Amino acid sequence: MSEERKLEYASRLQRMIRIETVSDPGRRSPEEDFDRFRGLLRELFPALFAACVQEDAGGSILLRWRGDVSSALPVMFMNHFDVVPADGKGWTFPPFSGEIDGERLWGRGTLDDKGGVWAMMQAAEELAEEGFVPPRDIYFEIGCDEEIRGHNADAISARFHDQGKRFEMVFDEGGDIVRDPISGAKGLFAMVGVGEKSVVELKFTARSEGGHASTPDKDTPFVRLGKFMAYVDRHQIFDVEISPVVSEMLTRLSPYMKGGGKLLGKAGKAKKPIEMLKPKLGGTVGALLSTTIAFTMAGGGEAVNVIPKEAWAIADMRCSHHQGQDASIAAVTRIAKRFGLETEVITRSVSSDITDHGCRAFKLVEEAVAAVLPDVDACVPYLMTGGSDSRYFGRVCDQCIRFLPFVLEAGQLSSIHGVDEYVGLDSLEPAVDYYKYLIKNV
Ligand SMILES: [Zn+2]
Repeated sequence: MSEERKLEYASRLQRMIRIETVSDPGRRSPEEDFDRFRGLLRELFPALFAACVQEDAGGSILLRWRGDVSSALPVMFMNHFDVVPADGKGWTFPPFSGEIDGERLWGRGTLDDKGGVWAMMQAAEELAEEGFVPPRDIYFEIGCDEEIRGHNADAISARFHDQGKRFEMVFDEGGDIVRDPISGAKGLFAMVGVGEKSVVELKFTARSEGGHASTPDKDTPFVRLGKFMAYVDRHQIFDVEISPVVSEMLTRLSPYMKGGGKLLGKAGKAKKPIEMLKPKLGGTVGALLSTTIAFTMAGGGEAVNVIPKEAWAIADMRCSHHQGQDASIAAVTRIAKRFGLETEVITRSVSSDITDHGCRAFKLVEEAVAAVLPDVDACVPYLMTGGSDSRYFGRVCDQCIRFLPFVLEAGQLSSIHGVDEYVGLDSLEPAVDYYKYLIKNV
């Protein structure tokens, strides 16, 4: 890759990183910053904006690029430009400095997801400059509020739905190219998201008559909450199942597995895999096999010498497709009741459909990856445990793919929503070429 092209790309993405477009409940960047960012996109991608018609999308951007064959169903490419907060503590470089150190471009949003916005638009810009006309209508949606649940994406897809408009394929952010994605699997794999677990926020409350701390009864509110959380931590309270997606993932990874990983590969094909897998039901793999629950906040009580009348804990529950939201809520509510707790659903996200990995969109991704990133050992379908805006597009599209073709080093995954987020400069050119391949071949 020419050094010149790499640096040119890096400097364009750098400008995007330097504008703080933070989405966080209560801590959203001022609207002028979002405005400045939208203005920057126009400045960086003039040919694309000239080639497209812009449609109403709230604070997001929605572009329609007219294609050759208007009878074919359109295709949607989407990414988002809002980012989660970064206070700079523990960062090697300030998170909005966009520092380039020769090998990496550092900053919040480089991976999630301004890097995706940039690569997608850069590819389209270069094609538009050449006078390219896409084979069918292509839409670009650049979201402004994905990190706070993507209300704009929801509204946009609802409008398409009301208009009776459908899309053949949707390509959104999602998995990346990672080395050794699960324990035992050695190699470089494109983790292509074909669905995502849905999120339910729950509150568990324990009540009592209160009283003075000098004469405590047994099983006061905090004790009951504690027992309940310990129980949920120690027992597999949700249904474990190897879904078709996970089975396919393990099948594709198993040629690269040794030892413990091989067990997973075998379990993927076994009739009763659960017994084989029980000892391994933690971490990444466990999250793919069942609903998970994590207790994230707790409180209650007013004084050190008073038994609280009420204590509470909040949990983030990610629901599997085989158990679903209602059944998962019922399962945990049953346990909570045993400890005398009330369960309350605070919020629920939309559930995503699962895209068939045999579909055309998945095949196109495989072709594109093979064409531009020959070092990748395999494209592997997987379920995202986090969310993306594309979950709202299930109502207008059967083939929703969640993938960004950036190559991540060990440990880089945790920088997403964490500290020291960066993108390797060597990832930039293949990412543009990946999007060009898709745009040309949809
Ligand atoms: Zn994202």
